[in-house]
Amino acid sequence: MKLKKILCALTAALMAMSLLAGCGGEKKAADSEAKNEMKVLRAAASVDFAPFEFQDETKKEYQGFDMDLIRAVGKEMGVKVEISNITFDGLIPALEAGNIDVIISGMTINDTRKKKVLFSDPYYESGLTMVVTAGNDTIKTFKDLEGKKIAVQIGTTSASECRKIKDAQVIELDTPSICFMELKAGNVDAVVNDRPVNDYFISQGFDGVKTLPERLTAEDYGIAINKNNPELQKKVNAALKKLKDNGEYKKIFDKWFAAKKG
Ligand code: GLN
Repeated sequence: MKLKKILCALTAALMAMSLLAGCGGEKKAADSEAKNEMKVLRAAASVDFAPFEFQDETKKEYQGFDMDLIRAVGKEMGVKVEISNITFDGLIPALEAGNIDVIISGMTINDTRKKKVLFSDPYYESGLTMVVTAGNDTIKTFKDLEGKKIAVQIGTTSASECRKIKDAQVIELDTPSICFMELKAGNVDAVVNDRPVNDYFISQGFDGVKTLPERLTAEDYGIAINKNNPELQKKVNAALKKLKDNGEYKKIFDKWFAAKKG
């Protein structure tokens, strides 16, 4: 009888111990799962927007200011960065569907988008300008675009701004490069697009066109994050701040902008 009692107590103690051990094991698994989630930052861009994101056939990785910046942000956060290429109008839907964690694609922070995504602090000051053929002396300001045919990239602020121009025919195309080709082919009167991208295009020797100085808008770029992930927004902002404080942001900026003299 006594022996039975002892055995019973022992069994109970063993069971309790194994239960506890089980709990610990589960907790460990949950912890590392949470860590695993943070090991990779899935970023996406519409990789056709030099000098922010573009492909250089001689290099394996996507190139550009945004690409360097998001890799530096990931490094600060201690995570690996994977970048996928998605057309501009597909970026926010991909973020909302949870297929990616962040968008870094020269994306302008605005109220329409803020209804769908969270934005990081601004990381680049931009704005819209227009490009016309070199010989065009009738279009000088945005007012002159009334009743004209304008090419813009689909889903962009250029598209929504140009739709406000009286009687303008706005042609939405997949990439800025296609817009410029259409301009050169004489199929449109002007291209409206982000200023640094227009300037870079021309600086790279795309001839027969010119960019006009007037700016239609002033816009700030931000990194977009899923609405349900304010934690990630905090981490991205902390990383951006650190990169600005430690000079890394300036290094990346100079690599793509200040260094491009002449
Ligand atoms: N800045 C513009 C926008 O957010 C264009 C961005 C882009 O084409 N990559 O709409």
